[in-house]
Amino acid sequence: MTKNIASQLVEALGADVVTIDPDGIAPWLSDWRGIYKGQAQAVVRPRTVEQVSRCLALCQHVGVPVVPRGGNTGLCGGATPDGSADNVILSLDRMNAVRSLDTVANTLVAEAGCILGNLRRAAQDAGRLLPLSLAAEDSCQIGGNLATNAGGVNVVRYGMTRELVLGVEAVLPNGEVFHGLRPLRKDNTGYDLKQLLIGSEGTLGVITAASLRLLPRADVRAVVLAAVSSSQQALQLFELLYGQCGARLQAFEFFTGACVDLVLTHAAGVQEPFAQRYPAYVLVELADSVDENGLGALLEAVMGQALEQELCLDAAVSASLSQLQALWKLREEISEAQRADGPHLKHDISLPIEDIPAFMASCEKRLQAVDAGVRPFIFGHFGDGNLHYNISRPAGAPSTWAAEQGEAITAEVMDEVMRYNGSISAEHGIGQLKREYFHRYKHPLELRLMQDIKKLLDPAGIMNPGKLL
Ligand SMILES: Cc1cc2nc3c(=O)[nH]c(=O)nc-3n(C[C@H](O)[C@H](O)[C@H](O)COP(=O)(O)OP(=O)(O)OC[C@H]3O[C@@H](n4cnc5c(N)ncnc54)[C@H](O)[C@@H]3O)c2cc1C
Repeated sequence: MTKNIASQLVEALGADVVTIDPDGIAPWLSDWRGIYKGQAQAVVRPRTVEQVSRCLALCQHVGVPVVPRGGNTGLCGGATPDGSADNVILSLDRMNAVRSLDTVANTLVAEAGCILGNLRRAAQDAGRLLPLSLAAEDSCQIGGNLATNAGGVNVVRYGMTRELVLGVEAVLPNGEVFHGLRPLRKDNTGYDLKQLLIGSEGTLGVITAASLRLLPRADVRAVVLAAVSSSQQALQLFELLYGQCGARLQAFEFFTGACVDLVLTHAAGVQEPFAQRYPAYVLVELADSVDENGLGALLEAVMGQALEQELCLDAAVSASLSQLQALWKLREEISEAQRADGPHLKHDISLPIEDIPAFMASCEKRLQAVDAGVRPFIFGHFGDGNLHYNISRPAGAPSTWAAEQGEAITAEVMDEVMRYNGSISAEHGIGQLKREYFHRYKHPLELRLMQDIKKLLDPAGIMNPGKLL
């Protein structure tokens, strides 16, 4: 029987905050990729922390599940309700104020519903950098970024979201407000509780605001696209660049020649990078606050050394901003191009970086044994040990292929990842998509501790059921 709470929510929060009309609810029921669809009895869009608190306290009292919702760009179905008609979707989109931006303390305090791209621009306008950057930044929200501990293209230099957060304000399922918004750089007073909420995918509480670190702007940029014979060569190139360029190394992205084929087939305005196709490519970006060191000259010198030492096959250094953008476009268009190519299997994995070449060789062998026609499109944040190991259907296979073969293929990839002590989710999280594998592979002690923490913070189990745990 449905636990109807809709009219109580309207009474407590007002009809402008709570939508209960099925037509108004319908657009909130599926995920970005259109893979998951659920049900809900209400969508709540609070404007204040106090409204979030009242909503959660009421839902916990009645025992109604709550699904926190950010920009809905998550790739694991975490913000999509399950099939229960009881669900209440709690969207943070109206809590989108920048509470403060301080260029002395170098902090930015933003409400959870702020769009990441807007925060990056606000920091930029103030002469600072918010380094978190991902292709979905003009849709995703900072609350969602914290809840998923998002990564993105600059992790090799600045770390994951977790490393950029100084404080968190959140509402616990019983309505209590966790006032952890301290902007302190140093605070060794016991357990760091905010870290529990970061990466918790909406299963412990609702993040309502965050205090973030700002860094010096690094507007001077230089980019090179290097052609490599293999991931082993990419690894050696990484070692050289990291050693020679140090903290200026801001991105080290890898993609195979097959990815370039895909992009040239499906994306407009993209050019063949070299006169010939190579097995794989590495896109490297250096960035600095000032150009007194001659960033472009440094990159050219290091790449000259790389060519001499046979650590790459060819290299194209950007000579202008438009060239720099054209090189990045090759990398950025891969996901969209694969989407245009048809249904495929996504595996966002991470490995000890030195094991990537061995993993790629052995995983390919395993997949060949299952289906010799599979088309791997491998790309990702190589410098962080993170690969998007995506598999498309064999040429001519029906569009139902991914649904039919998906489990067998994914099981091979995940098993191989675990054989190398890697992670089955590098940056996208678990959500609904990887729950089975998460439970299969997580160490029983870690799983039990997580379940104990969940019970402590959310004893009624109302927060985002069916996700993660
Ligand atoms: C084109 C594209 C590129 C992407 N590239 C990257 C990438 O490079 N790196 C990367 O890490 N991810 C990437 N992603 C995935 C996605 O953008 C991130 O996971 C992002 O952090 C999700 O933020 P969101 O606001 O859209 O959250 P949502 O999708 O709305 O929610 C994600 C999860 O967080 C929970 N949640 C959301 N807001 C809150 C809150 N305020 N309090 C508590 N829980 C909350 C939800 O319940 C859900 O479990 C990409 C996605 C797309 C579509």
